[in-house]
Amino acid sequence: MARVVGAKPGEVVVMNSLTTNLHLLLVSFYRPTKARHKIILEKGAFPSDRYALASQARFHGFDPERTLIELSPRPGERTLREDDILETIDRRGREAALVLFGNVQYLTGQAFDMKAIAAAARKKGCAVGFDCAHGAGNLALNLHDSGADFAAWCSYKYLNAGPGGIGAIFVHERHARAKLPRFEGWWGTDKKERFLMKPAFDPLPGAEGWQLSNPPILQLAALRASLALFDEAGMRALRRKSEALTGYLETLLRGVPGVEIVTPERRGCQLSLRLAEPRAKLERRLKAARCVVDFREPDIVRVAPVPLYNTFEDCRRLAEALRA
Ligand SMILES: *Cc1c(COP(=O)(O)O)cnc(C)c1O
Repeated sequence: MARVVGAKPGEVVVMNSLTTNLHLLLVSFYRPTKARHKIILEKGAFPSDRYALASQARFHGFDPERTLIELSPRPGERTLREDDILETIDRRGREAALVLFGNVQYLTGQAFDMKAIAAAARKKGCAVGFDCAHGAGNLALNLHDSGADFAAWCSYKYLNAGPGGIGAIFVHERHARAKLPRFEGWWGTDKKERFLMKPAFDPLPGAEGWQLSNPPILQLAALRASLALFDEAGMRALRRKSEALTGYLETLLRGVPGVEIVTPERRGCQLSLRLAEPRAKLERRLKAARCVVDFREPDIVRVAPVPLYNTFEDCRRLAEALRA
């Protein structure tokens, strides 16, 4: 898993599910004070992330309406401008305890410049974390060098482990032995001493110290089978094919009337489309043409040719079905 996200082995551990992990990491990395309690995030963030952040703010006694600084695209635009993100962090970072971003936006497919965001956040003294749900197994990430303090992701999107599959976290090695507050459990303690059943918590260094419980073996087995394939192919090779595949699809779709591509150039494999045609009819027609896409209210269709198992021929068939 560490190889998939470009981290050192000690920086990553597989455990729990994504939202649970976000909460556990926020316990350690969201340390608000009266003067610095704000959280910078994007307005269109996946709802679970916003719920986690808002409830953490409330848990610390702050009003989420005043704590969350949410960035929106400019009027008339559908995706955030990098400059606007960095400018907001620069202008309001001093009030913020935390900057939390996705690395690929789930709805628009926009990928964010993690390095630039992390550098801007850290310059202002904010903790910085990323939700990599739509980046892990999609982009060739380099979490270790990204500047992030922490990250969390799931394994059931681009990592193929199936719905409810086990999640994972990254904690940068600079925090490996830091005395951070955290919620503790026996699986986070020194492996040699777990079964000595001692009363005092002696954490494992690195990400493993955040584990609470012994993990579900069947889920780990499913994930391991998927990760073996990622290892065999290699993230760099997958990303190379992915760029070609999505680039090809983009070229084909540019010629189709009634199709607007929302996703900007910085992206993973996903293209988000706005289609002129009503949803019900489209869904029926695409299904009949054996194309699997994802509809999101009110008007977005997500298509994601995945390099492990999608082909250029799949892209051509989808473009033809849309044209028809
Ligand atoms: C999928 C997703 C989630 C939901 O994850 P759970 O494993 O159900 O907690 C949360 N945040 C983002 C950004 C996601 O893409």
